[in-house]
Amino acid sequence: MTAIKQIEENLIREAKRLLESKEVSVVLAYGRGYGDDHPIPYAAKTVEEAENLVFNEYCTFNLARYLTKYPPKTRIAVAVKAADSRAVVQLIQEEKVCREDLVLLGIPFAGLKDPKTGRAIDRTTMGSLVNPVLYDILLGEEIRGVETGSPYEVLAQYEAMDQEARLAFWKKEFDKCIRCFACRKACPMCYCDPCFMDASKPRWADKSPTADGNLMYHLTRFYHLAGRCIDCGECSRACPVDIPLYLFHKKLAKECEELFQQAAGMKTDDKPVMVNYGNQDSDEMLK
Ligand code: SF4
Ligand code: SF4
Repeated sequence: MTAIKQIEENLIREAKRLLESKEVSVVLAYGRGYGDDHPIPYAAKTVEEAENLVFNEYCTFNLARYLTKYPPKTRIAVAVKAADSRAVVQLIQEEKVCREDLVLLGIPFAGLKDPKTGRAIDRTTMGSLVNPVLYDILLGEEIRGVETGSPYEVLAQYEAMDQEARLAFWKKEFDKCIRCFACRKACPMCYCDPCFMDASKPRWADKSPTADGNLMYHLTRFYHLAGRCIDCGECSRACPVDIPLYLFHKKLAKECEELFQQAAGMKTDDKPVMVNYGNQDSDEMLK
């Protein structure tokens, strides 16, 4: 695996080159936060600002989150780790971003750490890929020989619960929710504007963190993400009260893969599973 410092140097070099040649008007990557272990998303618009870019094992944020904030036809370079690249692919499938507007700076990387806890991030919250699925420029050597394994192993205990136990589990977890919406903010696939939670006509759900309102928010968000979640785990990491949102997203992702033989955000010419119907599709979900 390419050394982190080398990836950072390559990132700065490519960012400067792209900005200097005006191939892009902004480079989305990471900048220094209040410490090395707390980098922040950073948009460099000048060659001088590109000097501020960093990359280290705490750069977990999914930068695809910011792509939909720019007007169409903005030329953007974006640093993509494996999960970020899957989010970009999914956004291309959903026609929210245009492939031609993007320069993807691929970062093959294994060994991310959670900035909140300092602990290594594993397949519990994240998918198992370590190389970007789509890129224009690779900032390090492709990683080979890493044992990846199923991203769904963590579901075993959850799937062993019966329906009643699952409902009780989620009710208990959702009771902790303070409705700060950090999960929504961190998610590259939560781009609806306005979000159904912010709409007032009609008003879909109680905006305060009541038990019913929390249930409505989470169940609706979970189903909005069915077949679209790219398993970056950012929503779970963003949650200040540690609700294991990844369990539900992974469960839905697993079901979608089994039903439609397609994982989210893997190929740009795939159609999003929830807007595409084929005669071979299973009707199991309707029963
Ligand atoms: S739902 Fe969570 S894990 Fe899935 S794409 Fe959004 S932030 Fe990532
Ligand atoms: S981040 Fe956690 S506390 Fe905040 S709205 Fe999401 S689940 Fe609730």
